[in-house]
Amino acid sequence: MGERQLKRALVTGATSGIGAATVRAIAGTGRTTLALARRSERLRNLADETGCDWITCDVRDCQHVLEVVGEFEPDIVVNNAGVGHGIAGLSDMTQEDIRASLETNVQAPIQITACAVRGMKRRNLGHVVNIGSIAGLHTMISSLYGATKSAIHQFSQNLRVELAGTGIRVTEICPGRVETEFYGVASGNPEGLAKMADTEIRSLQPEDIARTILFALDAPMRVNVSTIEILPVEQVVGGVRMAPCSWENKGE
Ligand code: NDP
Repeated sequence: MGERQLKRALVTGATSGIGAATVRAIAGTGRTTLALARRSERLRNLADETGCDWITCDVRDCQHVLEVVGEFEPDIVVNNAGVGHGIAGLSDMTQEDIRASLETNVQAPIQITACAVRGMKRRNLGHVVNIGSIAGLHTMISSLYGATKSAIHQFSQNLRVELAGTGIRVTEICPGRVETEFYGVASGNPEGLAKMADTEIRSLQPEDIARTILFALDAPMRVNVSTIEILPVEQVVGGVRMAPCSWENKGE
């Protein structure tokens, strides 16, 4: 089957949530899978469990990550590593949070893809999977996070056009709320996850996203699954928000 020509997968942000589930799913198909993130103990455990290869790397360390990509020569890149700093509002963010968001969510996936695509073009074969978000497609309260994911959306759209005729496929997955460590990291409070789990909304599970990624990867080579928006059944997007001003003199 054509889709099995895609044999070597790099997954970033593999120590938790969507990335770890994606490594389990892709390694489970027998593909050589390289799991990348910063926490080595977790990577070692994932390797014991799945047989994946692993490397400790910060995607913000441009030189190191490009060395890894250049050496591994992936056929599949899953740009998953991401942070949600400032998801509750821009005014509380530090300069470091802003820089980390831009470097992790935007700069790194673009650099990794640029490097991987060189080899893919030589082989006329490859699949880039970018993890976007509904925050990149719709108007929501997270201005910085939404801006980074919008950048990934347009990057994916334009890259697909740029690579037309090469056989390289580009898929963007845009999830709604997934139950991972994301909100705990975003709020700087590990309890964030527990709080989220407390609500009555049933979130997506990381395995739901991993299964979706596998669907795109294993589609026949004539098929490019371009964009998938996937939400919990109890989460919807849209509507107009009315918010009365809180200050005394509204300046009428
Ligand atoms: P998690 O916080 O559970 O996982 C994030 C992963 O990214 C971890 O493995 C972390 O590993 C890795 N990571 C973060 N920064 C770096 C870095 N500088 N270098 C290398 N790895 C890094 O979150 P999710 O699984 O939820 O998030 C995965 C993706 O899904 C993100 O891009 C996120 O924006 C997106 N998403 C998540 C949604 C959700 O509701 N959870 C909804 C929509 C999109 P380590 O710390 O070990 O480096």
